[in-house]
Amino acid sequence: MADFYADFHGWLQQHAGRQYDLHAEHVNAAFVKMLKTIGFDKGYTRAQGPYLWDKDGNKYLDLLTGWGVFALGRNHPKVRNVMEQVIAKDLPNLVRMDCSLLSGLAAETLTRHASHGLASVFFTNSGTETVEGALKFARCFTKRQKIVYCDHAFHGLTTGSLSINGADFFKERFGEFVPGAVKIPFNDIAALEQALAGKDVAAFIVEPVQGKTCDVVTAEFMREAQRLCKASGALFICDEVQCGLGRTGKWFCFQYFEGIEPDILCVAKALSGGYVPVGAVVTRPEIMKSVFNSMERCVVHSNTFGQNDLAMAAALASLHVIEDEKLVENAAIQGEYVMRRLKEIGQKCPFVSDVRGKGLMFGIDFARPAGGFLLQQKWDALHAMNFGVFGQTIIIPLLQQHRILTQVAGYHTEVIKFLPPMTVTREDMDWFITAMEDVLQATTRTGSTLKTMVKLGMGAVRA
Ligand code: PLP
Repeated sequence: MADFYADFHGWLQQHAGRQYDLHAEHVNAAFVKMLKTIGFDKGYTRAQGPYLWDKDGNKYLDLLTGWGVFALGRNHPKVRNVMEQVIAKDLPNLVRMDCSLLSGLAAETLTRHASHGLASVFFTNSGTETVEGALKFARCFTKRQKIVYCDHAFHGLTTGSLSINGADFFKERFGEFVPGAVKIPFNDIAALEQALAGKDVAAFIVEPVQGKTCDVVTAEFMREAQRLCKASGALFICDEVQCGLGRTGKWFCFQYFEGIEPDILCVAKALSGGYVPVGAVVTRPEIMKSVFNSMERCVVHSNTFGQNDLAMAAALASLHVIEDEKLVENAAIQGEYVMRRLKEIGQKCPFVSDVRGKGLMFGIDFARPAGGFLLQQKWDALHAMNFGVFGQTIIIPLLQQHRILTQVAGYHTEVIKFLPPMTVTREDMDWFITAMEDVLQATTRTGSTLKTMVKLGMGAVRA
C-alpha cells in the first residue's frame, strides 16, 4: 500500500478506475449516465497545453478547456513554477486584518490591461460571484433596483446571476428570483432604449460574445448601449468572464469598439491560470467608493477566500504569461485563420446555418436545411427524439474518430462552441478543421447518423 503522505500519487493509483462509480454514488449520477451514454467517459490521466491523454495513451485536442479555464493551456509550467514557489514560502496568507502585497500587485497588473478609468478591483472566487458583486455595486452606486439583460445571456447560476439568465431551462424549478430583472433581445437598440426610458435601471449587463450562442455584439449596439446607459443614469456592465483576457484577440473584447469603456468589467476563468479559482470585479474608483464609503462599511461586501495567496499568484502569473508569450496576438491570428477555414467548410454542409464568434471563441450553428427532402427528414427525425441530438451527432464522432473534445454549447440551441487554449498552433487548428470537414461531410451521408444513434443507444444501455 502506498503511503498517503509520502507517496500521494501512488496512493491515488490504487484507486484508479473508480471515478465513475464514486461520482455515481456520491456526486452526480445523472452526469455519469450522460457521459456513458455519449461515450465521453474516457478517464483522462494526463494533460499538457492543449492536449489530454486517456488511460490508453491516446492524445486528444481539448477545445473545451474546462469551459474556458485553461486559456493558457493545461499545467502551464511558468504558472506552476510560481505557484510552487508561493507554496514553499509559508506566506502569511489571508490574515484578513492586513493587506497582502500579492493581491495589490495582481490588481495593479489586471487594471493595467483594462483601461485607465477601470482602476479598482474586487477579487472573487468564481464568475458568478463576480457577476453578483457587479450587480450589488451597480445597485449601491445608482440606488436603483432594475437590471436589464439579454436573451440567451449566461452570467452564472447562483440566484442573483440566475435572475438575469436568458435561458428558461436554467431557471425552471428553482423558485422565484431577484426582482427587477428585465430581458431584452440581444443587439436590440430600440428595446434597450425602451427598457432604460424610465430612468430607474441600475445597470445593463451584456456579454460582448455570448457564451451560449457565440453571438457577437455589434459596434453600433455597444456605442448606443453606452450612450443610452449614460443618458439614463444606468451603469454599463460587460461580462467578460468567458471572452476576456485575450481570448477574442484583444485583452478585453470591449476594446474592439472605439470609445467604449464599461463602468464595470467582470473577469474570471482564464485569470486562474487553470490552477486556483479567481475572478474580479473591475470598476471605476467612485463606484467602488460608493460601496466601501466608510470605515464601518469597509467589509460590507466581502468573501472569506478572496485574495488568497494561491489565487493571487495564479492571477499574477497568468497575466504575465499572457503578456510574455503574446497570447492575445496568437488568439487573434489563430482565431482569424480557423474562423475563415470553418466558414469555408461550413458552406458545403446544408445543416450549417452560421459560423460566428471572435478570436478563439467561436461556434457553429445548425438549422433545418432550406431544401432537400431527405435532409429535412433526417433533421426532423432527430428533433423528434430530442432537441440538441443533432449536435450530439457532431461532437460524438469528433471525439471518437478524431480525438477532439468539445460540447454542445447550450440547452435548446444547436450551437457547438469551441474554446481552444490561446496557446494553440496552426497545426492544432488544422487538426480541428480536417476533423470537422470529415464530420460535416458525414452529416449528408446515409447511415452515418444512424451509426451515431446506435452508439448512443449502446451507451444508454451501458449507462
Ligand atoms: N459569466 C459568463 C459570461 C460565463 O460564461 C460564466 C460561466 O461560464 C459565468 C459568468 C459564471 O462563471 P462561473 O461558472 O465561474 O460561476
